[in-house]
Amino acid sequence: MSFAAFPSVLIRVICGFSSSPSPLPLFFPVKKYQSIRNDCWEANHTLPATKLVDLTFGNVSILDPVEGIFAIKPSGVPYADLRPADMVLVDLEGQIVDGKLKPSSDTPTHRNLYKNLPGLRAIVHTHSRYATSFAQAAREIPPLGTTHADHFDGPIPVTRALTPSEIARDYEWETGNVIVERFKNLNPLHIPAVLVRHHPPFAWAPRGPKALENAYALEVCAPLAFQSLLLNPAAPPLPRALH
Ligand SMILES: [Zn+2]
Repeated sequence: MSFAAFPSVLIRVICGFSSSPSPLPLFFPVKKYQSIRNDCWEANHTLPATKLVDLTFGNVSILDPVEGIFAIKPSGVPYADLRPADMVLVDLEGQIVDGKLKPSSDTPTHRNLYKNLPGLRAIVHTHSRYATSFAQAAREIPPLGTTHADHFDGPIPVTRALTPSEIARDYEWETGNVIVERFKNLNPLHIPAVLVRHHPPFAWAPRGPKALENAYALEVCAPLAFQSLLLNPAAPPLPRALH
């Protein structure tokens, strides 16, 4: 995919969060987890510029795999108002390690994916419109061209619907379970995104900027597939030789 397609702010993020100035003066002691807190803040703060989110429908988390702690957006706070200190630190057992605000309601889904899908270090959840349309239509996004294959080595899968008892028990945690179930025979690093039936997508990567790029690529591929299928409902899948 050409970088010309990216908003300039996203190019800066994809090229590396560390290129941005630190929000902390140099004489401040470096707080533990400051790196994931800053990266998480920058990714969440950038989300509106990517046009992948409306209102506050989206969140990013960043994992420190050594410590088993991830930083995630607080619930309900407008992206423009976020500060690095607002990011909530949560451990893989679900305990809040640091943060004054309530973590995103999607936190149990992020936690489940970090625990059960190997190699994930960053997760992006958006309600991006075309990918969400495929999820709501319960249709996977087929690989019809090289744009898709540049980021995803196969169809973007759709989960099964949650059962009423799963929804009643713990909707967000069970959402993680149906994603993990869907990836039982798939490599999450080869297909770094999923469509949750009746809900929108999640994308991920071994690092934050790449996760944001994958979420963006998903929303490039989804309308291309939609329009290709409108033009030709029998559009053939991309030949394996072109993957
Ligand atoms: Zn959501």
